[in-house]
Amino acid sequence: MPHQSSQSAKNMPMRYFIGVDLGGTNLKVGAVSTKGEVLFRTEAPSDVKGGRGALLKKILNVIEETRHMVKGKRLSGIGLGVPGIVSPETGIIAQSPNLAGWVDFNIKDVLAEKLSWPLYVENDANAFALGEGWTGAAVGIKNFCCLTLGTGVGGGIVLNGSLWHGVDGFAGEIGHIVVEPDGVPCNCGSQGCLERYVSANGLVRMAQEGKDDILAAPLLKGCCGVDGLSAKAIADFARQGDPFCAGLFQKLARYLGIGLADIVNLLNIEMIVVGGGLSNASDLFLSAAREEMLKRSFKVPGHRIKVVPARLGDNGGIIGAAFIAFGKELH
Ligand SMILES: [Zn+2]
Repeated sequence: MPHQSSQSAKNMPMRYFIGVDLGGTNLKVGAVSTKGEVLFRTEAPSDVKGGRGALLKKILNVIEETRHMVKGKRLSGIGLGVPGIVSPETGIIAQSPNLAGWVDFNIKDVLAEKLSWPLYVENDANAFALGEGWTGAAVGIKNFCCLTLGTGVGGGIVLNGSLWHGVDGFAGEIGHIVVEPDGVPCNCGSQGCLERYVSANGLVRMAQEGKDDILAAPLLKGCCGVDGLSAKAIADFARQGDPFCAGLFQKLARYLGIGLADIVNLLNIEMIVVGGGLSNASDLFLSAAREEMLKRSFKVPGHRIKVVPARLGDNGGIIGAAFIAFGKELH
């Protein structure tokens, strides 16, 4: 009998899932095996300003392109990570600073109508957390959270192996922990939120604010002025020993450490995974952030917790979205 079952498994086309990571800047799509391997990936600018209809069409097109590239295998479901608060049950987007005009829109129904496979939606940072839990830095960890430091700061909390969505689906908005009571106003309506400091935008803004500092001169010259500043340039300068840019990362690390201490004291979890584009520069801020965290958190949970960079890089959102479609439990 075992012989028969392995024979029939051999004849079945290999199953895979498509993960779609819809960002405010880029749309990333990949075909992912049941083991979490990325079989094919593609990306395109999301071009949010081009309008909702055009972006929905683009999503359908890249799904089709992906399907075409993994011919011979069986597509079993599609997962979509959305940058905003979205209900996995209804598919309605409740809030999204990066997708203006999409609020109260049912992205799931509209796309599902055009697709022949089951479609699942989830917040993008939640999807990222599941990806890291499946095949990334948090494999085998039951209680952890993920931060994505990109244009803004996303967060996803996994407790006992499952996402914690909160009663209304708004849990895990770590980017909106207040780290500076009278700080910079935030899109969420509050001010001094973590994401105003510990993000690519926050880093660039802090550099702009320091433009009159004599130490800022080399950076401004290298970037052709205030308008040319980018997080990558600031990181490059910091790595070369530029004191102004190194100072900006110290500032960022302090704010991140305050946020991390709040997470430690609130949740007493095993791990915090730090991902997103800015985590490519984690060598410049993560250990200082950990030190700040230890100064402010309770000793036992502070020393227990591991604060680590994400492992899946740019593919975390794709792999996590595919995992949602896969419908497995994490551990
Ligand atoms: Zn905020």
